[in-house]
Amino acid sequence: MSLIACARAIATGAQTATAVTERALSRIVAAEPHLNAMVHVDSDGALAQAARVDAAMAAGGPLGPLAGVPLTIKDLIAVAGLPLTAGSKMLAGYVPARDASVIVRLRDAGAVILGKTSLDEFAMGSTNETAVTGPARNPWDLGRVPGGSSGGSAVAVAAGYGYGSLGTDTGGSVRLPAALCGLVGLKPTYGRVSRSGVVAYASSLDQVGPMATTVRDAARLLAVIAGPCGEDATSRLEAVADYEAACDLPARGLRVGVVRSWLEGLTTETHDAVLSTQRRLEAAGAVTVEVTLPHAHLAVPAYYLIAMSEASANLARYDGVRFGHRAALEPDDDLDTLYARSRAEGFGAEVKRRIIMGTWALSSGYYEAYYDRACRVRRLIHGDLEAALRQCDVILGPTAPSTAWPLGSHTHDPVAAYQMDIYTTVANLAGLPAMSVPVGLSAGGLPLAIQLMAGAFDEATLLRCAASVERDAPALPSAPIALARALSGGV
Ligand code: GLN
Repeated sequence: MSLIACARAIATGAQTATAVTERALSRIVAAEPHLNAMVHVDSDGALAQAARVDAAMAAGGPLGPLAGVPLTIKDLIAVAGLPLTAGSKMLAGYVPARDASVIVRLRDAGAVILGKTSLDEFAMGSTNETAVTGPARNPWDLGRVPGGSSGGSAVAVAAGYGYGSLGTDTGGSVRLPAALCGLVGLKPTYGRVSRSGVVAYASSLDQVGPMATTVRDAARLLAVIAGPCGEDATSRLEAVADYEAACDLPARGLRVGVVRSWLEGLTTETHDAVLSTQRRLEAAGAVTVEVTLPHAHLAVPAYYLIAMSEASANLARYDGVRFGHRAALEPDDDLDTLYARSRAEGFGAEVKRRIIMGTWALSSGYYEAYYDRACRVRRLIHGDLEAALRQCDVILGPTAPSTAWPLGSHTHDPVAAYQMDIYTTVANLAGLPAMSVPVGLSAGGLPLAIQLMAGAFDEATLLRCAASVERDAPALPSAPIALARALSGGV
């Protein structure tokens, strides 16, 4: 059942919110030993919210667009009263007192929050393997990564822990796990969704985005969380369009840009997935135009320099004094030792690597050569996309170079892991909306996906094109076969 169908079943009285929530919670109990996607499950809070929705329904009261719909939340987003770890030992024991703005909006819409999902530590990663709680597993093949950093959110939705999730996307962290787990994942335009109450990784790139099983489900989630927010100075005033209505518009007349150079370096199946999507869009009446992004090959180095630089500044606040982990001190230890030891103990290896590289890139003497140059490359990439989007309405390409890869394949080669973000980081650098849409399964039974990008604040066109892709692509089985086998006791 889709999120929209679930909301309708509750609103029409065909199901109670309590029954739907109980089903989601028992799914978590059954599948978590195989998947490791949740860092905190709030059964009591979820059932209490479901009961409130059922009471409102009985009283004939107005129900919000997500009334009674169980969702999960990436553990980088503050939910009042629930632990917030950011996937790190550094934030152990931290419980925020306030909801993030996006959570306030979900609650106003009546959503049921099941709990918090696993992520790469401080959202730094593409595989979910740097999570302090250990990797979540891909429900389509338990020996493979779910993608990251919002890997727990992707696994939760793919495994039926509720009907959608919120992730964050700094360089692909919503789209990549969505692609690897057979879901729809949308990164909104920078400024479209409030970042208030979201742990900062790289503030000029971070956006919260929805993950769901259908395009229309993602549209509904986006409509709820999008819009101006007085608590985020980068939030923008542009009107929120009717995203669900956009899903009903035909692809006829859409100009779809194709980047020839983006078809190199893909596995055969991913390459064919992009080309067959292009053909199906043409058959639906879209016109394809060839566009070029001459600086896109520089996106990964520019992205990592900027992301690490901003991260080194953002993560300076974790000093052992104000939040989370504090090292045990000897009587003679001074304040610097408190900072150094707390940070040495609290942060994992990948986070330390990035803080060190980011600090170095910002340091005097290197700033011009690295950070400043990365910012100039960022502007060139932005210019490429603006030029391309004058010739077309959406750009079609891959989300990732391949389907999900085996756990542990990049552990000793961080740069190889960074390369997985080659197609996603451009949208973050340019601040543009982008989404990943599933387009069937590979011969090996793993989800295939394509990526779409559109102009700033044009999520409606993105969703319109995505809905057409979804209508015409081979459908995925309703549940991952590997997970079903594991749950029935098979191998
Ligand atoms: N994989 C990228 C990184 O490690 C993107 C992460 C993200 O979007 N949060 O920085």
